[in-house]
Amino acid sequence: MEKRAALYTGKAKSVYSTDDPDLLVLVFRDDTSAFDGKKRQQLERKGRVNNRFNAFVMEKLAAAGVPTHFERLLDAHESLVKRLQMLPLECVVRNYAAGSLCRRYGVEEGLRLSPPTFEFFLKSDPLGDPMVNEYHIRSLGWAEPWQVERMKELSFRVNDILAPLFQAAGMLLVDYKLEFGLFNGELLLGDEISPDGCRVWDERTREKLDKDRFRQDLGAVVESYEQIGSRLGVAFD
Ligand code: ADP
Ligand code: UDP
Repeated sequence: MEKRAALYTGKAKSVYSTDDPDLLVLVFRDDTSAFDGKKRQQLERKGRVNNRFNAFVMEKLAAAGVPTHFERLLDAHESLVKRLQMLPLECVVRNYAAGSLCRRYGVEEGLRLSPPTFEFFLKSDPLGDPMVNEYHIRSLGWAEPWQVERMKELSFRVNDILAPLFQAAGMLLVDYKLEFGLFNGELLLGDEISPDGCRVWDERTREKLDKDRFRQDLGAVVESYEQIGSRLGVAFD
């Protein structure tokens, strides 16, 4: 498998075509950004940690029957994935209140959400990823009704798999972001699941172990990402 043209350079990953039109290489970089790209920093080893972490999670999900784009790890920074036609939406699952939910509804951080809740956001840096509802998605043509239903179904299925894994390792999976895309008419989980797009707290101390360490200047960001992974059983080099 040969890496060809650079197709897209995002805030954290670069995407390359390959000699197979159905496959892409995702390169996980050390670039870290928050607040719609306003805060940026290079965090040494972050790319390789997230690449390994994501591979572990995607393989767990696939083994449990969730259709994903993930094919295999290529090297420390790179993974091979199916080329999806991405839907321009971010799906967020929340088990505990944090972040924009607290700001929006004035609820206390850490409130347990029972049942877990779900939100759609439009993936748009210039607009700051506004929250959208299913009527907006339908009327503005961002996804079809069956795709909306499938994104919700798969997001909650992912939660049923991941939340207990974190719990068993003494951590709370507070919230996280998922992206989906189409491959030969089928909806697959795409992008990455890593501490860059999740909130994870130590269950006992409620210490933040995720990208909030970067957002809030708490330090030891990559070390905390590795701690989450090690506690879940991810083998880092
Ligand atoms: P952003 O675009 O938000 O800055 P990244 O730096 O993570 O994010 O860039 C990775 C890009 O690749 C994202 O836009 C994501 O939607 C896209 N992507 C992820 N997986 C796939 C895939 N399997 N096929 C096509 N595009 C993908
Ligand atoms: N998230 C993400 N990318 C985004 C927006 C959110 O990965 O562009 C993740 C974020 O890390 C958190 C969850 O989605 O785990 C919910 O984020 P929230 O809406 O609370 O936004 P925030 O306050 O983090 O900006």
